[in-house]
Amino acid sequence: MGGHVFGRSSAPLPTAVRGEGCYIFDANGRAWLDGSGGAAVSCLGHSDPDVRAAVHAQLDRLAFAHTGFFTSEPAEALADLLVENAPEGIDKVYLLSGGSEAVEAAIKLARQYFLEIGQPGRHRVIARQQSYHGNTLGALAAGGNAWRREKYAPLLVETSHIAPCYEYRFREDAESAEAYGLRTANELEAEIERLGPESVMAFIAEPVVGATAGAVPAVEGYFKRIREICGRHGVLLILDEVMCGMGRTGTLFACEQDGISPDIVTIAKGLGAGYMPIGAMLCSAAIHDAIAQGSGSFQHGHTYHGHPLAAAAGGAAIRAILDRGLLPRVREKGAVLDAALRARFGQHPHVGDIRGRGLFRAIEIVEDRGTKEPFDPARKINAKVKAAVMSEGLICYPAGGTVDGRKGDHVLIAPPYIIEDDQIDELTDKLGRAVETAL
Ligand code: PLP
Repeated sequence: MGGHVFGRSSAPLPTAVRGEGCYIFDANGRAWLDGSGGAAVSCLGHSDPDVRAAVHAQLDRLAFAHTGFFTSEPAEALADLLVENAPEGIDKVYLLSGGSEAVEAAIKLARQYFLEIGQPGRHRVIARQQSYHGNTLGALAAGGNAWRREKYAPLLVETSHIAPCYEYRFREDAESAEAYGLRTANELEAEIERLGPESVMAFIAEPVVGATAGAVPAVEGYFKRIREICGRHGVLLILDEVMCGMGRTGTLFACEQDGISPDIVTIAKGLGAGYMPIGAMLCSAAIHDAIAQGSGSFQHGHTYHGHPLAAAAGGAAIRAILDRGLLPRVREKGAVLDAALRARFGQHPHVGDIRGRGLFRAIEIVEDRGTKEPFDPARKINAKVKAAVMSEGLICYPAGGTVDGRKGDHVLIAPPYIIEDDQIDELTDKLGRAVETAL
């Protein structure tokens, strides 16, 4: 076939032609076990009848109506469903086409909110090291992933990056998890005070860090303290649930498990379950109303935002997650996956940590398990694990963050919520062999 499409890799890739449940089939008929839902996207697997039917039905009625002129039934139905099931205080939904777009919109909404309420000095964003919020320039500037930012640094607006809550790496031996969480959260307050609260607009964080650290949840109490600090200083809390939201961790929104509500939350990936490109930014009534009663409109928009087909897919996917009991299933199968990973890698000399929530898990690969020293980046462990995983016919997400200024390695595992126990065994067997081959 042609070979004119270019993507992120210059290496030739297999051609995906069909999907069924947890498997993708390529043009040679090979079955690939989708152990990461792509990048935590395909939460319902690859041939969900209800989502397909919803998209077909919408396509037969109306494919597109510009949001400058119309709202649409699937967009309204999806927004209702999200708000009914959202954390307390979240009341309005702005539909987009993906995660980066949702983060861009969140940052712009925060800025416009402060203009509307007469606080034009607030423009700074504080984020965390080892975070990823997207690849467009605003979202990339917010993210703290050093290697993704490096080439584009002159184009990125200055952002403060405080320490992540990453217990495996940064909790002191003598420190309790609670004390560590409070110490780390207090860095936000120190940074707000250093910058001057009157200049700080928002703090953005992933409740469970995905691509840059590998399924790292915060310790208990961390986000409660973060919520308090934001409230005290009038700073908006934006939670980026693009990867960890929509049931991935066992609750529809990951922050439910941290016992807090954000002012703005972004979602994508699992929202459309891979059937359509869709993301969303949800916000409180207070933010929405300040703009509605002020200038009257959020000064933002993309031609395809609120696309009816994407909204139809999103509505069907969320209904499937809620109505088929997939949230408790994610918790149950997450425990099975965790046990299987611990059985396989618990004593492995190069697996330093096994972690995550629900069906959002990772192993962290280190040179030395005792000292937690990462491999020398020149060894390109990520790339080797990816190649070995692919030769096993498995898809998972080997990625790297930055550990003390050096690249670290982890493998993210985020299978469809419909995964069965024998497929979890297949996944861990294949991953186990791949890790041996790569190291
Ligand atoms: N935010 C988080 C937490 C993500 O994990 C991602 C993608 O991996 C994004 C934002 C960007 O989403 P997208 O790739 O859909 O633009």
